[in-house]
Amino acid sequence: MRLFVFGFVLFFAFIAGSQFSVGQLETGWKAHDLNRSQPVVVKPAEKIGNAPSDAIVLFDGTDMSKWRSRNGGAAKWKIVENAMESVRNGGYVFSRQEFGDCQVHLEFASPKNVKGNGQGRGNSGVFLMGEFEIQVLDSFDNQTYADGSAGSVYGQYPPLVNASRGPGQWQTYDIVFRRPRFDGDGKLIKRARLTVLHNGVLVQDASLAFGPTNWIQHHSYAGLKNKTKGPLGLQDHGNPVRYRNIWVRPLVEVRPQPEKPYDAQRIELDQAVAKRLVGRYGGHRVEWKNENLVFNFNGNTPMVMVPHSETEFGFTKSAGNIKFDLNEDGIPTGIELNLDAAGKRKAIRK
Ligand code: MG
Repeated sequence: MRLFVFGFVLFFAFIAGSQFSVGQLETGWKAHDLNRSQPVVVKPAEKIGNAPSDAIVLFDGTDMSKWRSRNGGAAKWKIVENAMESVRNGGYVFSRQEFGDCQVHLEFASPKNVKGNGQGRGNSGVFLMGEFEIQVLDSFDNQTYADGSAGSVYGQYPPLVNASRGPGQWQTYDIVFRRPRFDGDGKLIKRARLTVLHNGVLVQDASLAFGPTNWIQHHSYAGLKNKTKGPLGLQDHGNPVRYRNIWVRPLVEVRPQPEKPYDAQRIELDQAVAKRLVGRYGGHRVEWKNENLVFNFNGNTPMVMVPHSETEFGFTKSAGNIKFDLNEDGIPTGIELNLDAAGKRKAIRK
């Protein structure tokens, strides 16, 4: 039993250790690098839910010029009371513009006059990249298979909760979509990821699609090959579902990386030279651990040091640096710390 527990402890230490070693650098950046570009300024709407300044408005209640039918011709839905309404046998409608990674906002209302049951009541759907359906259904007091109710990734993930409003009431979807990734040979390396808020309530939490959605059985990613974008699609399922206030924000797909590789200045430091820097500096502490110098900021944030010279060091996970002052005998007398934009801090050796 004791050995078993010990095994578990080792296992978790390994897991914790491996995460620790990846840490911040998964983003490609060390913490607080001032070379990192500033976030682009976006002016939010006066009313949350309306389009922010960088959104592409696909439907504002007036015209359907940004939409087409499947064959590319004019969309065959109709505009009723500033909403676009699905027309039976009118077919799906697709945005003329195509998107990969994106944020989508739209509002929908199932018919006020309740007709049908299960999948037959207020059925429509929002298709990301034209392939991945977030189900639209009147799921208010209307049971069906869970993975086909409102807010589901159709046939794959039921919504986390049923946040539906009643028939005829306007409801919102806010969707964050990350498209699937393929390598150069068209082999899938990342599944599509869908996050959805239904009426402000989280119903899909980064759900990874098994493939393009479909009735009975989902499709395979193989059919998408290297597809990187597709239209936003809205389903005609024979029920007069209405949509309004539809906007999309394409998302940055590849984040900028540091121009120069970190630690190009790294040198090999003689252990004896390194170890003479061990000691207390104000409230901080430098120690030798696992073949590295480690700087303990305020004694409790261990930062592995990267030697750039005998007296200057960077850190493995922070863009900051530390410089040691030595006296004539080569004994350290203090440090100068540079940890963020707040300026340099000094500490005297104790
Ligand atoms: Mg549907």
